[in-house]
Amino acid sequence: MSAKRVLGFLIARPLIAVAIAAAVVGVLLLLGTHEQTTPVTHRTEHLALTDGQQTQLGDQQYEKTLQQDRAAIVRSGPAYMQVQRVAKRIEAVAARDKPAFDWKVTLIRKNEANAYCLPGGKIVVYTGILPVTRNDAALATVLGHEVAHATAEHAAERIEREHLTRVAAAIIAGGVAFTPNQYLRVFALLGAADSLPFSRSQESEADHIGLIYMARAGYDPHQALAFWKRMQRATRGKQPPEFASDHPSDQHRIERIGQWLPEAERAYTPAQPA
Ligand SMILES: [Zn+2]
Repeated sequence: MSAKRVLGFLIARPLIAVAIAAAVVGVLLLLGTHEQTTPVTHRTEHLALTDGQQTQLGDQQYEKTLQQDRAAIVRSGPAYMQVQRVAKRIEAVAARDKPAFDWKVTLIRKNEANAYCLPGGKIVVYTGILPVTRNDAALATVLGHEVAHATAEHAAERIEREHLTRVAAAIIAGGVAFTPNQYLRVFALLGAADSLPFSRSQESEADHIGLIYMARAGYDPHQALAFWKRMQRATRGKQPPEFASDHPSDQHRIERIGQWLPEAERAYTPAQPA
C-alpha cells in the first residue's frame, strides 16, 4: 500500500492506529528498563516506566476518583487546613527524591480510616483517618508512609513484576492494545483505595522511608509509635486499610519502627514555629 493509502486506512480505523501507536510505545519501553535506587533504603530496582509515565498513569486514576467523589471533596475548614498544612511539608521532603512528580493532596469525606498516594504524587486522604491520627505528627506518619510508596516506585515495580509494563504503556498512550481485564489489573496495582495491597516487603519499606520523611519534615518520629498503637486498636477485628494491611503483625511493625527510630532521630530537626 502507498503511504497515502495506509494513512487513509488508519484514519478510517482510528482504534487500529491507536493500537499500533501503543504497541510501538510498548515495545520501546520493553527494551529499556532503567536502574533506580529507592530513597532511604537504597535498594536497587529495575523499572521500565519513567517518572513522567508513572505520573500520567496515576493522574488518570486521580481524575476518575475526583469525578466519582466530587460531592465529597472537602475544600475548606479545619480538617482541610490540617491536611494541606501537613501534606505541604511531607511533599517538600518527598520532592527532593522525586522532583519530576506533581504533588497534590485531596481530602474526601468518607468514614473510612484510609489514605493513599498514586504514582506521580497525587494523594487522597479520607476524613475517617483524622479521629485516629488526632495530631499533625500522626497525620505526617500516614502521609509519609503513603508518599514513600510513590517515591520508591512500588506500583511501577509491581507492574513490572507482573509483566504489565507494556499494557501500562499502552494505557498511557491512550491505546486499546489490551483486554479490559489487563486494563483493570494495571489500575489495581496503582495503590489506590480498594486496590490490591502492596507486598509485605514494600509495606515495611514504606514504613521505614515514611518515618525518615516525617522526621525530615520536622515531626517528632516518636509520634509514629503512638499512632500505630492507636491504629491497632481502631482496626481491631476489622478489615485493615491499605497502610495497615499485609503485615506479619502489628506488634512486629511497632518493633521494627522502634529499630529505625535512632536513624529517624538523626534526621529530625524540629520545625520552627511559623
Ligand atoms: Zn502501605
